Amino acid sequence: MEEINEDRKDHSKKPFDGGKKDNEEKESIVSTSDSDSGLFHKGEHKKQFAYEAHTACDKNGYILGCIVTPGNVHDSIAFDPLYDIVTDKFFEIKEIVADAAYKTPWICKRIIDDGRIPIMPYKRPMGNREFFRPHEYVYDEYYDCVICPNNEVLKYATTDRDGYKQFKSNTAKCVNCPDIKNCTNSKNHQKTVTKHIWSDYLDLAEDYRHTPKYKVIYEMRKETIERVFADAKEKHAMRYTTLTGLTQVSKWVKLKFACMNLKKFAIHLWKVNNSTSYISIINTILSVLSEVLSKNNPCSEIWNRGCLTVCPPPK
Ligand code: SF4
Repeated sequence: MEEINEDRKDHSKKPFDGGKKDNEEKESIVSTSDSDSGLFHKGEHKKQFAYEAHTACDKNGYILGCIVTPGNVHDSIAFDPLYDIVTDKFFEIKEIVADAAYKTPWICKRIIDDGRIPIMPYKRPMGNREFFRPHEYVYDEYYDCVICPNNEVLKYATTDRDGYKQFKSNTAKCVNCPDIKNCTNSKNHQKTVTKHIWSDYLDLAEDYRHTPKYKVIYEMRKETIERVFADAKEKHAMRYTTLTGLTQVSKWVKLKFACMNLKKFAIHLWKVNNSTSYISIINTILSVLSEVLSKNNPCSEIWNRGCLTVCPPPK
């Protein structure tokens, strides 16, 4: 809120009091059999009660951390606690690879301010496809305004509580504009363009996305975090859960992930030392585990989230 108020002050606007946005209560659909789960939107039409396992793994596919949330919690909200868990343990992490759902101004700012590199894919702009694309409204940093495709100026109006600066067009000019059908549907013929106060961090993330070194790291998602979720669902029955309640499901997921890590490590040892006996492998696993718990040195990290559907699955 401090930075938002600073921006408002710079524009001679009254700062917010720092209180909550509003006291409106949001309505949400609650499962009658498991009230901890949340309604998960799978694609455009499919909905189901589910939990999500937000998970981080290293470049070798070892799971570094996981938090389980109801299915209606957005990925960007689950990011902070997971990021804290993983970076507290593995401070040496340099790159964070995440999917498009995590590409928000706050997440990019947090990663970059911590001296790490966010590697995230292209995020398709939302909204009506018939309209001009967001990049066609150009921000003029010097005059702090936006230029529309018809070369008209959209002046700064305000900065909202979410940190979005709003730029509004002159209705007298828009009403006669030949491109209005491709610009806005608003009844008062006014176009509003928003730009987040931390949008520079998103631009930096875009630059990293085009860097060859980071492109190679991003490509590793399919053989690391995607593989973790594929194995969890196909080999370890984590597509559905028979348990109810967030605590139970969290324990169940973490236990399975711990077993997956041990299995992976045992297979690795078995391949490296073909003649090693089971007992020496178990001893090695235990000694390495104690070392891993005290310190680890992954060089990059992959993020994703999966979905666990509450049993029985809805028809
Ligand atoms: S409707 Fe207004 S903001 Fe949109 S292109 Fe025309 S002049 Fe620009």
